[in-house]
Amino acid sequence: RDSKVNQNLLEDHSFINYKQNVETLDIVRKRLNKPFTYAEKILYGHLDDPHGQDIQRGVSYLKLRPDRVACQDATAQMAILQFMSAGLPQVAKPVTVHCDHLIQAQVGGEKDLKRAIDLNKEVYDFLASSTAKYNMGFWKPGSGIIHQIVLENYAFPGALIIGTDSHTPNAGGLGQLAIGVGGADAVDVMAGRPWELKAPKILGVKLTGKMNGWTSPKDIILKLAGITTVKGGTGKIVEYFGDGVETFSATGMGTICNMGAEIGATTSVFPFNKSMIEYLEATGRGKIADFAKLYHKDLLSADKDAEYDYVVEIDLNTLEPYINGPFTPDLATPVSKMKEVAVANNWPLDVRVGLIGSCTNSSYEDMSRSASIVKDAAAHGLKSKTIFTVTPGSEQIRATIERDGQLETFKEFGGIVLANACGPCIGQWDRRDIKKGDKNTIVSSYNRNFTSRNDGNPQTHAFVASPELVTAFAIAGDLRFNPLTDRLKDKDGNEFMLKPPHGDGLPQRGYDAGENTYQAPPTDRSTVEVKVSPSSDRLQLLKPFKPWDGKDAKDMPILIKAAGKTTTDHISMAGPWLKYRGHLENISNNYMIGAINAENKKANSVRNVYTGEYKGVPDTARDYRDQGIKWVVIGDENFGEGSSREHAALEPRFLGGFAIITKSFARIHETNLKKQGLLPLNFKNPADYDKINPGDRIDILGLTELAPGKPLTMRVHPKNGKPWDAALTHTFNNEQIEWFKYGSALNKIKADEEK
Ligand code: SF4
Repeated sequence: RDSKVNQNLLEDHSFINYKQNVETLDIVRKRLNKPFTYAEKILYGHLDDPHGQDIQRGVSYLKLRPDRVACQDATAQMAILQFMSAGLPQVAKPVTVHCDHLIQAQVGGEKDLKRAIDLNKEVYDFLASSTAKYNMGFWKPGSGIIHQIVLENYAFPGALIIGTDSHTPNAGGLGQLAIGVGGADAVDVMAGRPWELKAPKILGVKLTGKMNGWTSPKDIILKLAGITTVKGGTGKIVEYFGDGVETFSATGMGTICNMGAEIGATTSVFPFNKSMIEYLEATGRGKIADFAKLYHKDLLSADKDAEYDYVVEIDLNTLEPYINGPFTPDLATPVSKMKEVAVANNWPLDVRVGLIGSCTNSSYEDMSRSASIVKDAAAHGLKSKTIFTVTPGSEQIRATIERDGQLETFKEFGGIVLANACGPCIGQWDRRDIKKGDKNTIVSSYNRNFTSRNDGNPQTHAFVASPELVTAFAIAGDLRFNPLTDRLKDKDGNEFMLKPPHGDGLPQRGYDAGENTYQAPPTDRSTVEVKVSPSSDRLQLLKPFKPWDGKDAKDMPILIKAAGKTTTDHISMAGPWLKYRGHLENISNNYMIGAINAENKKANSVRNVYTGEYKGVPDTARDYRDQGIKWVVIGDENFGEGSSREHAALEPRFLGGFAIITKSFARIHETNLKKQGLLPLNFKNPADYDKINPGDRIDILGLTELAPGKPLTMRVHPKNGKPWDAALTHTFNNEQIEWFKYGSALNKIKADEEK
């Protein structure tokens, strides 16, 4: 139990800390004196301060020390730019960056990849050079999708990993807690600071029995989504248990954990089991499996009598295949009911496209089982009736199924093999078989199916199902088809039924790694230069924000008094703005353009209080900033709900904002604002929100005595009338007050480093 075992085969500087995790957990065990779930063991085993940490599920905020960080290319840009501005020589924890989101599917893998490399050259050059400089691993375009690469190489039982992507929980299939976060959280861990998470409640899912026939692991999560709805997992970790857990593959568990994101769960996890041992061995990590066996009882499984906050039970013996959608992943219909439900809802019955693969469902098992259906159809002279695409999750999967023949089987079927990347799953799909606005149905083995997600067409009815079922739909071309009961006609018009799928869980001849697509950081990094072109419109180095000037802020205009719901999408829109995620100046042109101005009920139209002119919100903010005028925003309740997008906090700071004053904040956004050196403040009396007019001027008084729990004073100067005072509360602790004083959390780290 004392051995030093590497976390993976690619790094020689990162070790598995089971011993320390157990010691940390034991401290908490003595304090709480109760049995723990598996998820709790991992969390508490990674606490920063096990002696002092307040621990109450659903209440406390845990300060944690994750084992590693993974970033995808769209979110890595700003995370790395921020890390760079902290002035540290290298990352404090192992970090990998994965190029998968920026590759558009058009004609097929190779050509699409070449085009993407050309189109995104400056972003890839930046990521390749910055990862080399700061000691991070870099997975080049074509290597595969972040979550598949993590499962194949980095995930191990009992680990705590954070990733800047919502489907990071995929690694729960190997018994680790893998949690999706925003870039600012990733920067915390990269810079060696603890990372904060609200102690989740635990939703236990008890699996009994064994799946058979057409049912596959995907159907477990599709059914669960139907039970819990898209919000049912919010603030919870889903932990699977029961004898059913031992009956299927680790990659199948990955699929289930991946799609836990669709019910809003913090993450999902399976306890260490024999399928994980087999998968670790198949991917060259038998040593990790042996090491994990030594910690099975005390660390890598739930205690007997562990208490779950909620329990759902699923009987695998009777579980049917499901098809979820359209437009939402929790609209779950068992295959036996689809016929009547689809007709009753007037959903388009012709399936136009079947898409298998993605980070959710591209394991060797998925591909083998789907290929077995295709072979069966081919033996009856049938090919795909629909467009059929195959997205391998990684180069390793692609190379292995090429060697073992499944890829050829799909091609003969009429399948198009796409690049090892996200492609149509994230809307990177140059779809040409229909016009925008045409009502149509597609079925994928992906995870999300919100309106327009795959092809940008709001009339596309997207359904998600297992790859086996998607393949069956591609053969039948009809949403009403139930392969368990319905017959097809072979090439001579004779009826037959498809045989249930079968296939190996792991490749008998082992995995073929394919092309080497990994770039390890060099040992001597002193001469590496980070490549950012000064003329780039997609990347821009960050300049440190100025420290606080030590004075109360007076006579500030209100940039906008936002009415009603203001989410991070209203504050910093996604869509076409994704392109500028690495360029603060350009992306700041979307600041608050979706928020509604309380004065005129319009979006992106605010009055400059000095000129009287109405302009867009970012333009007005820029005008104020360029004249050295600080400004504030007034907001309603739960301001900044939605995502952990750090751009929503970076932009107001960049545009010269000083304070955001609301009835209440979404907590992550509030912390993000503090990290960027802004003042998130709350009306002590929420009714004061109504008393403020957009044309009023604001003083914030008492800043020189800013202290935890001590309210500040807001003095409001109405245009006509007497000034009035109101109390503003805040949630700053001492450390966060330093962030404000230094101008940002990163400035503070930099200053500490220089001392
Ligand atoms: Fe996200 Fe889809 Fe890419 Fe998976 S394949 S990481 S769900 S975009």
